[in-house]
Amino acid sequence: MSWLVHGFSTRRGGVSSVYGSKTLNLGFTQDDSPAAVKKNRELFLDLLGLGHEAPAWPLVTLRQIHSDLIHRIDQPPKSLLAGDGLITNRGGILLAVLTADCLPVILVDRKKRALAVLHAGWRGTLQRIVEKGVGELRRWFGCAPPDLLAVIGPGIHACCYLVGEEVRDKFQGAFTYADELFCERAESDELRRKYPLLFLTARAPGQAELSRKIFLDLVEANRRQLSAAGVPANHVAAYQLCTGCRTDLLFSHRGEQGRTGRMMAVVGLRP
Ligand SMILES: [Zn+2]
Repeated sequence: MSWLVHGFSTRRGGVSSVYGSKTLNLGFTQDDSPAAVKKNRELFLDLLGLGHEAPAWPLVTLRQIHSDLIHRIDQPPKSLLAGDGLITNRGGILLAVLTADCLPVILVDRKKRALAVLHAGWRGTLQRIVEKGVGELRRWFGCAPPDLLAVIGPGIHACCYLVGEEVRDKFQGAFTYADELFCERAESDELRRKYPLLFLTARAPGQAELSRKIFLDLVEANRRQLSAAGVPANHVAAYQLCTGCRTDLLFSHRGEQGRTGRMMAVVGLRP
């Protein structure tokens, strides 16, 4: 599809040094220098083949707030909008979300040439942001869900996404299929190593029952939403990479105890 530009970044190939040497941090985080992030964004746009396009494509990002707010973009906004989704059918604008465990989801309508990018962590997923993204494409651009293609980018998978009982309760209140999105596993040494803050109380070996831990399958949750919205299952692709497992390649908020960079998912139409 020569009219489409899209991509998901990894942590490799940039100029940031705060999260390891030569990392491609694309988010203006507290730790990193804005100059490095700006340079990284230029490098990423170069890799997408947009580095030397004239005029340069404006890059629209959001102040992400784990909401279900989706903005229709006809021209680059004058200030940073708060929300977690962007849609457009205009060419020459790049829409982006930033993630480091949450799922980035891109939707594309080949017939109407319209697209969306969404940021779906557990809160956004609970608020059905991906389902609403399909609805917004239909409402504004007349997109038919069976025509949509969806790709779920790299994020935290069920192997690593430890959540509390209250998260499962909330999902059970919102989705009839909620039980299929969670699994329970016994606490393991691997878990204790990954999430030391969750295990502050010392347990002498063999002295206490292993407690059960709850894991959320965010990818499946968003597949179910796409399906509920009418997107055919064979139009949905999901990256196999888990951010929590692959901190060598990806940024993970959980996997790096909150001190990490941001990856970017971008999508745009050629003018
Ligand atoms: Zn994992």
